[in-house]
Amino acid sequence: MAVLSPPSPPQPVLGLPVDASTLARLHGAACIICGDRSGSLTPAGYVYTSSGSGWLGWAVAACPRHREAQ
Ligand SMILES: [Zn+2]
Repeated sequence: MAVLSPPSPPQPVLGLPVDASTLARLHGAACIICGDRSGSLTPAGYVYTSSGSGWLGWAVAACPRHREAQ
């Protein structure tokens, strides 16, 4: 079986390494758009990072202001 490797990720791919605040967004601990941690975050799909041989998918979250912006 092949490793999950979509040819074209549905969202912009982030380059690695990322800084701490971006990592918090990738972990769903902050809004993926603005980095806000104070609001109620809701699931906002996936963001992908390049891992060299494929993509890594991260389940991210968005604040109420940005949950419609996906
Ligand atoms: Zn936001």
